[in-house]
Amino acid sequence: MCVAGIRIDGSRAEWIRLYPFPFRWMPEWVRFKKYDVIEVDVHRSARDDRRESYRPDIQSIEIISHLNKWKHRHEIVGKVTSTSTCELHRAALSDSKAASLGLVPVNSVERLEIVPFAGWSDAQLKRIADAENLAPLDLFGHGIDTPPELQAPRFTVRYRYRCSASGCPSHGGRLLDWELGELQRRHLKELTDDDAKREIEKKFLTQKFAANRQTSFFVGNFGDKTKRGSFSVLGVYAPTQTDVVPTLF
Ligand SMILES: [Zn+2]
Repeated sequence: MCVAGIRIDGSRAEWIRLYPFPFRWMPEWVRFKKYDVIEVDVHRSARDDRRESYRPDIQSIEIISHLNKWKHRHEIVGKVTSTSTCELHRAALSDSKAASLGLVPVNSVERLEIVPFAGWSDAQLKRIADAENLAPLDLFGHGIDTPPELQAPRFTVRYRYRCSASGCPSHGGRLLDWELGELQRRHLKELTDDDAKREIEKKFLTQKFAANRQTSFFVGNFGDKTKRGSFSVLGVYAPTQTDVVPTLF
């Protein structure tokens, strides 16, 4: 699995992409979650020339804390400069070293497209097989011999949205938020397709775009050089208006 985050060592606040993380083989105590603060040794990725990409030393992972409140999340996320999908797209097409991760305020969502999952692509199957080969069974001394089976998602979900750039022609971005996976794995199993879709809409439209929220997307592009201009929605960032007001004293 690929993980996007913000690097906060020293006084920096910079995007970082860490790959690979063999989550299914990782014991519970190092299986960090969204909005955890972790410490991990990293090395520049030899196989991925995107400037944010690093390879983690899995054995060095330490979970430091969890940012439970939006206000505390925003103390870190608020430090990275917002951009727009239009700008990221334009830059990525002209420069292979351009930003490949970003936080983009969402101007409007035109629709959420929810379709049955069509199966893994050949590229995805290869990545899954690579991860199996990497299976660090003795990486932690007492690793997991039989990891939970990789489950295909039931639906593929895409946002059609306009970013904050003026004249934005709209973008389609596949939603890869960890929370969507969790929702599908844990809560939608017993529901009919229509009811399951309603639950996804409730979470990712109604709740994430409630009137009191200032919603942005964490977006990222693909390692494949022919797809660098295409950005997926890695996560939905939805603090309320009061969470993003800086404390004055
Ligand atoms: Zn745009």
